[in-house]
Amino acid sequence: MRKGREMTKASLGVNKLIKECHSIARGKGWWKDERNDGELIALMHSELSEALEAMRNHGTKDNVAEELADVCIRIFDFCGARNIDLEETLRKKIAYNKTRPYRHGKKF
Ligand SMILES: [Mg+2]
Repeated sequence: MRKGREMTKASLGVNKLIKECHSIARGKGWWKDERNDGELIALMHSELSEALEAMRNHGTKDNVAEELADVCIRIFDFCGARNIDLEETLRKKIAYNKTRPYRHGKKF
């Protein structure tokens, strides 16, 4: 299906996940009071650290995946609260990254 000269974008489902994760967090009382962005970013970090700990503790791939899912859930909740269109931003960044040079021109 064509829309103008551009192909219609199929949903990646990210904004639906954002809506669901934020709705659950609201329902569980996490947004009863306004929250601090720094704290929320730190909590995203904490889930990455839990993924690392799962690896260090010989966790299974499922254990690591669960912590990575927690990272995504916290990011989605944040995007829902701050009205961030992560899906569109992902599209733009992925398209941009395709144009970048090998290893983005970096040594490492
Ligand atoms: Mg966790």
